[in-house]
Amino acid sequence: MPPISEGSTTAASNSETAVETIGLTKRFGERVAIDGVDLRVPRGSAFGFLGPNGAGKTTMIRMLLGLTHASAGSMSLLGRPVPAERAQALERVGAIVEEPRFHPHLSGRENLRIVAAVRGPHVHARIGPALARVGLAERADEKVKKYSLGMRQRLGVARCLLADPLLLILDEPTNGLDPGGIQEFREMVRAMVEQEGRTVFLSSHLLDEVEKICDHAAIVDRGKIVVQGAISELAEGATQHELIVGVDDLDGALAVLDGCEQAREARRSDEGLRVVLDDGSGWSAAERAAAINAALVGSGIAVSRLEPVRQSLEQRFLEVTSRLSDTTEEVRA
Ligand code: ATP
Repeated sequence: MPPISEGSTTAASNSETAVETIGLTKRFGERVAIDGVDLRVPRGSAFGFLGPNGAGKTTMIRMLLGLTHASAGSMSLLGRPVPAERAQALERVGAIVEEPRFHPHLSGRENLRIVAAVRGPHVHARIGPALARVGLAERADEKVKKYSLGMRQRLGVARCLLADPLLLILDEPTNGLDPGGIQEFREMVRAMVEQEGRTVFLSSHLLDEVEKICDHAAIVDRGKIVVQGAISELAEGATQHELIVGVDDLDGALAVLDGCEQAREARRSDEGLRVVLDDGSGWSAAERAAAINAALVGSGIAVSRLEPVRQSLEQRFLEVTSRLSDTTEEVRA
């Protein structure tokens, strides 16, 4: 697939962040939709802005694009302050905020030609590569009214690519796509990030999707960022650590672990034993695992496996949001 980027950063400074906000706030009357958000989206990342319905994702995206004013705080896109240098920043930003609309009686290629005519003659050369990048080269001359939703979404991305964007902002881009469409979309985003060095910022309420497509994420809930960073670190940041333990004597091991203060809970599982580590202060998870191993071996039990359970982002998300609702209950009580 031919790369489209010309590698130019003329319209944007060389800042390492594609999006940065400080104390960004949006109020609708009494309602605070975005509440003092500090967001940092590294350049060259696929960044998931993840939260349940009503969390504030669309409001955030609309503010970034200048479609609605912030009530307080500051923000920059590609190192340029917005709204002060909004026009220059947006020159290298492509966005899809709602389902992309096209002239249905024209073909995909003709729709892109109209956009290119507005943007300038140099943009015409990007039409073919953009259609190829989104996998529409062979269907580009069919009327858009014959396109599936997934094809229209991809044509929307192709339209964004005409600006040779350094940053793509996509609001719930996989809404309504079937599993095959989601898979194609995922591969397209990964290629745009890994092969072309673009940054893709996408909002989603689907944890699994963000985990598969993105390398960085922020979890947003009720207008506030609960946690943000590299997905691998977000998942590891979970407070509950578990081990899978393989032993030659399950009952003997359970008896030993019952008296071992580093193990909060132990139970049988398909893999052998699942051991939840105690999260008291002073010991790292690795030190606790070593202590559990020593206790078992010291009691004559052979240990064939001792493996940390990798927490998924979903576990982390559930942990964070359930903690939030606990806090809310405490405040109400
Ligand atoms: P969804 O996934 O359902 O689209 P979201 O995370 O995108 O949700 P937003 O649409 O940003 O959430 O809405 C955040 C909050 O702000 C909600 O409580 C919503 O009702 C409120 N809100 C959004 N736009 C307006 C508006 N124009 N006037 C008043 N309240 C609004």
